[in-house]
Amino acid sequence: MSEKFNELKPFLEKSKAINASLVLFSWDNETLAPVDAMENTAMIIEVLSNEYFNTIMNENVKRILHEIEDGISNSSEELNNIEMGIYKELKKNFEKLENIPASEYSAFSSLIPRANKVWAKARENNNFTDFSDSLKKIVEYSKKFAKYRSKDGQHPYNVLLEDFEEGFTMDVLDDFFGKIKKEIVPLLQRVTEKNNEIDKNYNNRNFDVNKQKEFSRWISEYVGFDFNRGVLSESAHPFTTNLHNHDVRITTHFFENNLESAIFSTIHETGHAIYEQGIMDELTQTILGEGTSSGMHESQSRFYENVIGRSKEFWIPIYEKLREKFNEELKDIDLDKFIKGINKAHPGFIRTEADELTYCLHIIVRYEIEKMIFNEEADILELPKIWNDKYEEYLGIRPENNSVGILQDIHWSCGEFGYFPSYAVGNAIAAQLLNHIKKELPLEECLISGDFKRINDYLKEHIHQYGKLKNTNQILIDMTGEEFNPDYYINYLKEKYEKIYEL
Ligand code: ZN
Repeated sequence: MSEKFNELKPFLEKSKAINASLVLFSWDNETLAPVDAMENTAMIIEVLSNEYFNTIMNENVKRILHEIEDGISNSSEELNNIEMGIYKELKKNFEKLENIPASEYSAFSSLIPRANKVWAKARENNNFTDFSDSLKKIVEYSKKFAKYRSKDGQHPYNVLLEDFEEGFTMDVLDDFFGKIKKEIVPLLQRVTEKNNEIDKNYNNRNFDVNKQKEFSRWISEYVGFDFNRGVLSESAHPFTTNLHNHDVRITTHFFENNLESAIFSTIHETGHAIYEQGIMDELTQTILGEGTSSGMHESQSRFYENVIGRSKEFWIPIYEKLREKFNEELKDIDLDKFIKGINKAHPGFIRTEADELTYCLHIIVRYEIEKMIFNEEADILELPKIWNDKYEEYLGIRPENNSVGILQDIHWSCGEFGYFPSYAVGNAIAAQLLNHIKKELPLEECLISGDFKRINDYLKEHIHQYGKLKNTNQILIDMTGEEFNPDYYINYLKEKYEKIYEL
């Protein structure tokens, strides 16, 4: 153990403890807290957030980091693997903020909660111009911050993209999305022409919510969620959060007239949770103790939800269990009909409701608009039209208003530019994993026999345990011998949908 590194420990432990209380507050706000609590609780959260920030961002920590850096360069400090990872992560966070003038950062931070409210109202009233001033300000700050942080002539948008996924610059994403546009847009057109052939009206029959709850809990445990180290609750928008690997919390939601929504939201969040429950004990209470990136996290949730969760092999051993619960409602739906139903694709306006085939097209629209913004190629007021034109071009549908168009996502009102591509990257990694795992494990047999332990153990060994100790491409190279390769995803979608739609 390096002695200098030891001096960081009290700061790291305190920040972890404060962060854990912030996580609990936000969990509580989303699940059980009474509606009127929000305003008063906000004050407590603000105090804790400031304290969290100051615990790490202070002169003492800065000095210790510099001393460690000197020690490493003159070989008087020897950090083990985990210490080195923590040191690098901390330094990265430090540099991210160090280059931004404190007054500008604090003005930006107080702008965000106000912009969130303005956005929510604008979306409700379907009026983009109500939001455009706030958006303009957020964009200006984001551009400035990215320029402050840019190194060696790095493009400002690449600075932001790399915050979410190291190494995934515009070059990588242009190649990825170019392939999707070339292959998937025409495939979607062929699928849409045959869409009447798949009937999934059964999904909107009345499904008793209590029975759905029982099934959701059961399927989460079946797939591998450890209820001794986790909780399943309800919230409007399902999510996963965690204190450490012994306390991982997920939510789902239930609709009487939509059977699929709860089932696949539950499996999706279970995928995120299995990742967090699998992080090694040595890391879990450090700043490396979470999934390595949003893209890698999404690859795990999508792997469980879509890649295996919508396969026939997955449902072979358990479909009768679902049918027993909903005897009347699913009486005339056999396994083959059900599999076609859960894989039906059709273009829609809303990203979060998109199916597997159309999902990435929603992301491409957002990515291309963000690129235009950071290349100074578009005026904010022109964005709604650009948005609608792109939906028409890629998905073949034109949003009828801005609420279901450009105002649908909260991200831009939070200043989160560069985030959306990680969702698409996650989907593509899930397909890359499938290709690899099939060579390592008898995957179909595991699914037909319900042996998730083998699948989960494999993912834990090669991905989950490492937390943020390795980045996405390091994980992929160590596991598959190859870095991110979107070709697997394109082939996966083509094969899957040509089969389902008998194209
Ligand atoms: Zn997710």
